[in-house]
Amino acid sequence: MPDKSDKIRGCLFGGAVGDALGYPVEFDGERTIFGKYGPNGITEYEKNPRSGKAEISDDTQMSLFTANGLLVGDTRGNMRGVQGAPRGYVEVAYQDWLLTQNSSREEVDRHERFSKEGGHSWLLDVPELYARRAPGMTCLSALRQERSGSYIDDYIKAKLNDSKGCGGIMRVAPLALNYQMDDIEGMKELDLEGAQLAAITHGHSLGYMPAAVLVHIIGRLVYPSEDNQMTLKEIILEARDTVAEIFDGEKHLPELTSIIDKAIDLSEYGSPDDIDNIHQLGEGWVAEETLGIALYCALRHQEDFSAGVIAAVNHKGDSDSTGAVTGNILGAKLGYSAIEDKWKKDLELSDVILEMADDLDKGCPISEFGGHWDSDWAAKYLDMHRPEVLIKHQKDGQA
Ligand SMILES: [Mg+2]
Repeated sequence: MPDKSDKIRGCLFGGAVGDALGYPVEFDGERTIFGKYGPNGITEYEKNPRSGKAEISDDTQMSLFTANGLLVGDTRGNMRGVQGAPRGYVEVAYQDWLLTQNSSREEVDRHERFSKEGGHSWLLDVPELYARRAPGMTCLSALRQERSGSYIDDYIKAKLNDSKGCGGIMRVAPLALNYQMDDIEGMKELDLEGAQLAAITHGHSLGYMPAAVLVHIIGRLVYPSEDNQMTLKEIILEARDTVAEIFDGEKHLPELTSIIDKAIDLSEYGSPDDIDNIHQLGEGWVAEETLGIALYCALRHQEDFSAGVIAAVNHKGDSDSTGAVTGNILGAKLGYSAIEDKWKKDLELSDVILEMADDLDKGCPISEFGGHWDSDWAAKYLDMHRPEVLIKHQKDGQA
């Protein structure tokens, strides 16, 4: 059995693998995919010939910023004794992601990083994150609106748009990795927080309710109760029922529960060919379909990470996001150690992804009154810099 640390790495890294495998075919139809890669579709990374790396896209970029925001919130809570809901810190981190998509690193350094107003994420010190990898338009426009607007506390109530794109669900997994809940009431709270994180940019209930389902599933996989070893199917059913309770009466809820049931059914009784079953679930551009396709692929291939992510990307729809969410689930279930070496080699930013996973696993080690000090942690989550960048900046400042 993989341990907690291995599952946390598996979830974050697994999501990045599915994202990177699917990104080159995100906008390709099936004739193009199977014409180019053969009857099994894309089964290996398509690397950028210049860098030699398999590129991650906005799904993984934003997942990393989600994690960065959560850990800034926790560190603030430990150091100052005050901490708001995770959504507030995560929105600030998404504003930082927005900076990476709008500006060069030099511009961000000049205007934001070393002023008091901007730059709340050490990830801004990672040059590769400034690459634009088909960022979702809804994410960009909602964050721009919020940047110039007033303070929001309840993103579900203060909805900015009616989008149910998959830009919310594809980035929320770190929430479930960072907080261990002891009972179902705690899990409900966290599921709802997952919906809030998605609602920062996606206002339609089918844009945020699937994020709550994913948070529930990943939480159960990474932190199982000792006496209760549930199967993946049992976990998915519990997630469905819990989220149905949270959003009782929401008019689009039946669409969500029915696609979850359909995914389970197809994984058990569907065609032997994954693609036939995926066609019955949709294309994954909208969040309930992304969830449906990911659940189907994870259930059908629950002991085989590679088979699951390969199934999840070889269709005409939103391959990188269906790949990312499938990779999150299977990575959380099977652990990083179960991910084949071929996916670990040449994945862009694999070191940063593992560093962030290990930070989520470790949790904030410093506190206002604690004797223990961790200067690397303080650099990243108090001063918001990579430790080596902070040291260089301090030296330059003195010179
Ligand atoms: Mg993407």
